[in-house]
Amino acid sequence: MEGLIRMSEAGGCERAIWYRYNGYEPQFTPRIQRAIEDGNIHEQYILDWASQNLPGAPYAFVDQQVEVFVNKILSGHYDALMRNEENLVIVEAKALSRQSFLEFKNKPIDVAFRRYYIQTLLYMYASNIKLGYIVARNVDTPKEMPYEHWYVELRLDEHKHVIERELERLKNLKFKLDLGEEIERPFNPSTDTICKYCPFLTYCATKEEINNIDVATLIDDEEFVKIVERYAELKNDIAALENEKKELENEANKLKELIEARVTNTAVVKNYLVEVKEIISERVDTKKVKQLLSQEVLKDVLITTSYKKINIKGI
Ligand code: SF4
Repeated sequence: MEGLIRMSEAGGCERAIWYRYNGYEPQFTPRIQRAIEDGNIHEQYILDWASQNLPGAPYAFVDQQVEVFVNKILSGHYDALMRNEENLVIVEAKALSRQSFLEFKNKPIDVAFRRYYIQTLLYMYASNIKLGYIVARNVDTPKEMPYEHWYVELRLDEHKHVIERELERLKNLKFKLDLGEEIERPFNPSTDTICKYCPFLTYCATKEEINNIDVATLIDDEEFVKIVERYAELKNDIAALENEKKELENEANKLKELIEARVTNTAVVKNYLVEVKEIISERVDTKKVKQLLSQEVLKDVLITTSYKKINIKGI
């Protein structure tokens, strides 16, 4: 509803709220557009999963896309209201990339996903529902597996102080917005990640900031944009997969002990053969070699090469 702050934006950037409030058209980059579409595609599946898997499940759907208000300041739509025999619960569904999903799993919700946290608390407060869940799906789950899910539980009475503080802040913000006061930008588009995903970035940042200030050359050739974006995406995915692989290898070491305890080197786990192999490796201790050889000899055997490597990282 116009003239109100949206609960979904309440925990985000106040300057971005100012842009939306003042009628600026959001500019959706392909990345933001894709995230919105992923959200729409997966929402119902996530809610269905939640109804069958949250603590106290099964839940029955009571309502979906319910509009709620707080004191002519805030408005919003929460995804679903469900019930079991004891409780009514609000469920918010989020479709996340692998990297975001890992953060959702491993970091406190009020730090890593403050916007979702505030949003869901406000929905709960506005509808006086004491229990809420934010349920995330990893949309990059490997194809041969069922989608991974994770949830965060929120209890209204445990977060009362946060809600009170936020309502006070949002009341003041609304007051300023209605007076037509300018809201200063609280983040730096050159350095703060939040700005990267902001649909008001092009209004908020200077061209230099968008181009990562003075030294960077702007290349907007579509072909290179595609290559660089895909490369960065893969790099993130690979890093996340490597972490997950390391965690699994640690777990799998317990399996090694189990196999060895049975005086064998192999085991069958469902459709997989797990082997325990002895690996003998040899390597040259370069530190020791450098100590043993004279500078003269070292000069003859040491080859120094130099090359330039491309590195791509997010700004
Ligand atoms: S670009 Fe950054 S500071 Fe500007 S409105 Fe968006 S999030 Fe806020």
